[in-house]
Amino acid sequence: MGHPPYGSKLQFIESDSRMPRFAITQMVRKVIIVILLPATIATLVLWVGSYWNTILWRNKHHTQLPNFSVVFDKGICSFAWSRHVDKVTCDTVRSRVLGSFKVYTLLSREAAFLDEPAGFRIRREKLFFDENGRAHWGGLNFVWLSNVEQTNVTIPFWFLFALFLIYPGLAFIRGPLRRRRRRRRGQCMLCGYNLTSNTSGVCPECGQKVSAP
Ligand SMILES: [Zn+2]
Repeated sequence: MGHPPYGSKLQFIESDSRMPRFAITQMVRKVIIVILLPATIATLVLWVGSYWNTILWRNKHHTQLPNFSVVFDKGICSFAWSRHVDKVTCDTVRSRVLGSFKVYTLLSREAAFLDEPAGFRIRREKLFFDENGRAHWGGLNFVWLSNVEQTNVTIPFWFLFALFLIYPGLAFIRGPLRRRRRRRRGQCMLCGYNLTSNTSGVCPECGQKVSAP
């Protein structure tokens, strides 16, 4: 009489530890969907908008590196970023020759190669060579000299849209698919317990009322 009923205690611990894990999984799924659904809608809006008008965004101080720009145009996204590929040196003499406007325009180059067909593309190229194969950028009184490498990645909008839509889409059809499978296999609609040759009208696993087949 001194021992507690082990069976019922074990069962209690089991069901108690299973519940939070299930709840966390559900919460993570909801968070992913809450993030992905607006991303999907935003992608669709930008996709349609890219045929209406070219959208360009680049970082504010685009005369400095690293330099980043985004272009949405005619169904494609194009991302570009630039970086130094060697040691940067400063040349104050050259800048007086080049002038600030000319230096400024050296870096005012956008991401997309819009004349090429839309599709997946990753391209690397060196930018802004001078006669010595060096790049220039800077301000009024100085010019930085360095080789600059620009990486350009182009992705079609349809791909981004499909990528964002996969998870919410699957989550949306998973419930009906699971109910159909359980009905076909004669399982409990709530927990999936096998109800073959069960005549009590109640699922022994979860207590759900069993509807007549
Ligand atoms: Zn059940």
